[in-house]
Amino acid sequence: MENKDNKKVKVQVKGLVKSFGELEVLKGMDLEVADGEVVCLIGPSGSGKSTFLRCLNRLETITGGEVVVDGFDITDKGTDINKVRENIGMVFQHFNLFPHKTVLENITMAPVQLKKMTLDEAKTVGRNLLKDVGLEEKADVYPAQLSGGQKQRVAIARALAMHPDIMLFDEPTSALDPEMVGEVLNVMKQLAKNGMTMVVVTHEMGFAREVADRIIFMDGGYIVEQGEPHELLANPKEPRTINFLNQVL
Ligand code: ADP
Ligand code: MG
Repeated sequence: MENKDNKKVKVQVKGLVKSFGELEVLKGMDLEVADGEVVCLIGPSGSGKSTFLRCLNRLETITGGEVVVDGFDITDKGTDINKVRENIGMVFQHFNLFPHKTVLENITMAPVQLKKMTLDEAKTVGRNLLKDVGLEEKADVYPAQLSGGQKQRVAIARALAMHPDIMLFDEPTSALDPEMVGEVLNVMKQLAKNGMTMVVVTHEMGFAREVADRIIFMDGGYIVEQGEPHELLANPKEPRTINFLNQVL
């Protein structure tokens, strides 16, 4: 599947609706993300950002609409969701590292369990990724011995070990002390520069401005407005966008 610029479409969402019981959280969202594109998703708390991301790898069951990731219709019961998930890395606000495993074990676990690599291969990949995120020397320590910023960099390395072609980030720096935000954003910037397709929920407007190809503002389960970062941040059109940006910029 290709878009009008002949780029591969990595994520295509059409009319996505998600309800929790009576509560309709996503009210018909449409989004297309091209190969190598970095999309930042911003919006007030409770607007449905996390739910939206979680729908992209079916961590939430989808109430209505269509979600196609890497060419697989994930709403189709016949789709092997575990295969699709292998290509989608996800990084959360709280790092979710396994406390009783070393840093390297955290990273090698999934590729080995899912038989993508032998343990030796996974260790080599893991050590290289740790080098990429600046934590080569931490391979054999436990998560409790790391700072928040280091934990999040390990979480990113762990997601990358599966060689995903899409990375989803849900407020990856929100739980960090301010002095550690930069080190995590730098890793993400490098990833973007290397061509990773990324959907990033963030309140870091500096990052969004610098790294995103597109910023999407959502509120109340809708995409209210989207655009090229400098344009959207300098000239928001919708009152709700203006109001939100006034609070965060
Ligand atoms: P955001 O990430 O933008 O802060 P969320 O996607 O977490 O927003 O939440 C959007 C809305 O969906 C909120 O009203 C939240 O309470 C509700 N919600 C999220 N997850 C669940 C759930 N598992 N069960 C019921 N309601 C939920
Ligand atoms: Mg959220």
